[in-house]
Amino acid sequence: MALKLTDFKTPIHNDWCPGCGDFGILSSLQMAFTDMQLEPHNVALFSGIGCSGKTHQYMNTYGIHTLHGRVLPFATGAKLANPDLNVIAVGGDGDGLGIGSGHFVNAGRRNVDFTYVLFNNGVYGLTKGQASPTLKLGLQPKSLPKPNIVESINPILLAFSAGYTFIARGYSFDVKHLKELIIKGIQHRGSAFIDVLQPCPTYNNLNTQSWFSEVDQNTKIPRTYKLEETDYDPVINESDDENDLELKINQLVKKATEWGDKIPLGVYYQNETVSTFEERIISNIPNYRSQNPVKQLIKSSKGHGITDLTKHFDELTVS
Ligand code: SF4
Repeated sequence: MALKLTDFKTPIHNDWCPGCGDFGILSSLQMAFTDMQLEPHNVALFSGIGCSGKTHQYMNTYGIHTLHGRVLPFATGAKLANPDLNVIAVGGDGDGLGIGSGHFVNAGRRNVDFTYVLFNNGVYGLTKGQASPTLKLGLQPKSLPKPNIVESINPILLAFSAGYTFIARGYSFDVKHLKELIIKGIQHRGSAFIDVLQPCPTYNNLNTQSWFSEVDQNTKIPRTYKLEETDYDPVINESDDENDLELKINQLVKKATEWGDKIPLGVYYQNETVSTFEERIISNIPNYRSQNPVKQLIKSSKGHGITDLTKHFDELTVS
C-alpha cells in the first residue's frame, strides 16, 4: 500500500514558536519521504541540539537526538554500519557551524552518502537568540544588545571547500521547492548539504518571512530567486576539462556570495565523479558490502557476545 504523508507524522505536540520556519522544513522532509515512498523503518533521522533538534520527534521514522555539534559523526557511523539505510542529519547553524564546524568540514572530506539539512536562521534560538556563525557582521536582531562584531561563515563556500559533493540552498517557506531539493540530496551519491534559510520570528526580526519575500520594485524580481530559472549549471561531468571546471567554480563562488537584494536558491553544485567513503572503504575491506556491521551476528543463540576483535588488534600490533 502506498505511503501517505500522515504515515510520517507523529501525534507528539509541537512546541516550536508560531511562524517558525522549522515547520516548513519538517513538512518538506515529510513530503520528500512520501514522494520517494521511503519506508519509515529504512530512514534514520539524526538531529543536533537546538530548536531543530526536536525534528525527529515529529517524524515517524527512526530518530536519534544526538549531542551538541555531533550530529554528523552519529550520521556517519550509522551510514557506515548500514549502507542501505537512508540517513538524514538535521541541525541548526549554531550547532553545525559553531561547535560542530570541525565535524562539518571533516564529514565533507569523507563524502559519506547522507543528506545534511541545516536550519539556518542566524541565531541560537533555543538559548535566547545569541548571534550564530551565519549572522552577518554588523547586524543587530532584537535579541542582541549591540550589533554583531563577528564576521559570518558562508555555508555554501565552506561546504564546497570541505568536499561536499551536493550543495543546495532552500527556503523554509517555499516548501515544494525545498522538498525537491531534499529529494535530489537523498538521491545524490555522496554527502549532500542543504542550507535552508529559515526565519526565527522570536529572535531574528531582520531576516523575516516578509524580508525574504520582498520584490525589487524596479526589476520585479523577488529577493529569493531560483538558480534553475537561470542559465546556471551546477553539474560537474566526467567530460569537463580544466576550462569547464574553472568556469563552473567561478560561477559557484559568484552565486554563493550573492546576498542582500538577491539570494539564489537551488542546487549550487553537484559532482558525482568523486568516490564515496563507502566505495573507498572497499579497498580496505573488500567484503564490506556483503558483510557490513549491521549484517553481522553480535551474539550467539544463547545470547553470548561473539564479536571477534582479534583481527583489529592484529592490525595495531607493532612488530
Ligand atoms: Fe523557531 Fe526561533 Fe522559536 Fe526556535 S526560537 S522555535 S527557531 S521561532
